[in-house]
Amino acid sequence: MIIEGKTGSWEIVVGLEVHAQVVSQSKLFSGASATYGGEPNAQVSLVDAAFPGMLPVINGYVVEQAIKTGLGIEATVNEVSVFDRKNYFYADLPQGYQISQYTRPIVSGGRLVIDLPGDTTKTIGVTRLHLEQDAGKSMHDQSPTKSYIDLNRSGVALMEIVSEPDIRSPEEAGAYLKKLRAILRYLGTCDGNMEEGSMRCDANVSVRKVGATEFGTRNEIKNVNSIRHVMQAIEYEANRQVEALEAGETIRQETRLWDVARGVTRSMRSKEHAHDYRYFPDPDLLPLILDPEAIARIKTSMPELPDAKKARFVDAYKLSPYDAGVLVAEQEQADFFETVAKGRKDPKLAANWVIVELFGALNKKGVDVTNSPVSAKNLAGLLDLIENETISGRIAKDVFQFMVETGKDAASIVAEKGLVQVTDTGAIDAAIAKVMAENAAKVDEYRAGKTTLFGWFVGQVMKGTGGKANPAKVNEILKAKLSG
Ligand code: ADP
Ligand code: MG
Repeated sequence: MIIEGKTGSWEIVVGLEVHAQVVSQSKLFSGASATYGGEPNAQVSLVDAAFPGMLPVINGYVVEQAIKTGLGIEATVNEVSVFDRKNYFYADLPQGYQISQYTRPIVSGGRLVIDLPGDTTKTIGVTRLHLEQDAGKSMHDQSPTKSYIDLNRSGVALMEIVSEPDIRSPEEAGAYLKKLRAILRYLGTCDGNMEEGSMRCDANVSVRKVGATEFGTRNEIKNVNSIRHVMQAIEYEANRQVEALEAGETIRQETRLWDVARGVTRSMRSKEHAHDYRYFPDPDLLPLILDPEAIARIKTSMPELPDAKKARFVDAYKLSPYDAGVLVAEQEQADFFETVAKGRKDPKLAANWVIVELFGALNKKGVDVTNSPVSAKNLAGLLDLIENETISGRIAKDVFQFMVETGKDAASIVAEKGLVQVTDTGAIDAAIAKVMAENAAKVDEYRAGKTTLFGWFVGQVMKGTGGKANPAKVNEILKAKLSG
């Protein structure tokens, strides 16, 4: 995106840091439960509360999850990585430091292909992925005189995934987050739930004159909790920086907050410098050394990821890239579609029904595909009835509505409501004869050359048969009869 300013055109430069909570029963260095929403301080081990003498023990499953994620973003998994202490004082950080990875992360040098309008893509570099602990939560709004601390989150495993400053617009940032979330969810390494905070995003934003080779000074907008808000915050912040620079101000590097209510970013603090954290290798933890064979084993067990699945859908089912992209956004949607489409003559019909009718109905009901009242098997059954001409596409829509309401299968509904398509030519002949007899003047007009009336005749015959006549047969017979 280009911002047209008073002094010229400006380019937006964005790099995103995503904190993704690792799907794991227990925390990064303790056995306490990592599940969301527990009673405050019910999921805290002595390690998480930093009792003296307690030692961290690395959670092997979390390490596997990080490896999987690294492979999912086509990155290098480093056989040696190191845990460092990032020192700062805050009440919800009982250790007085966060265990993180600084100079030697577990994963480096990945990439993510994002989908942009017009079926175009762009590759965004991923600088690194490292493991670190989450902090606890301070609550300042529970009492007028006290602050409360909930340590349930203290020590929960996070993957910090840092992008290169390759992103050039709010839309690209949104596409990056969507793709990253999809990959994490496919892999089962993070549930991607931004409202519950299991995926949080900091957006680094700067602007520069179009054509400039150096980056401008960036600001970091912290912890924005939805993709839409990240996009809005970037747009606001970039415009604010352009206005400031054009007014002759300089941008100071600082940390800012997105104020949802006012739709603005606000300064929180000037940027701490890395050396203030006094990073040093955690003496309680040995370097993390990975077995290359274990990495290779994980590599062979990787699921098909969204980009590969999309390409396969386009190829195998002849879908448009757009439709394929919609279907693969969630693994459960893609699986649903494949169950409906497998072995079908017309898989595009299946795609249309899933995307338009099914997703429309689910949207209205506010449920996702895993709770669909119409099962994939039942939707396949409905499409079978269309393909073997038991019902018309028109009637199928009514049948589908009944399926949504009752959860019954298509064949039962068709039988119950007597909706079987009329292909019996005798019945169609009779309906046509009736329409022609009642509209003799129109028949004359048609025969005199006003052939545009044909559609009207079709409509009348369909109406006369309660929409149940086979449209192809109606067309064929009507054409013959009208031409005399
Ligand atoms: P820090 O540890 O201070 O947050 P990093 O070097 O880890 O700094 O960078 C954080 C993020 O900032 C990365 O996503 C990177 O791509 C992005 N970034 C770096 N320079 C710029 C810039 N000039 N404009 C926008 N984003 C930037
Ligand atoms: Mg940062």
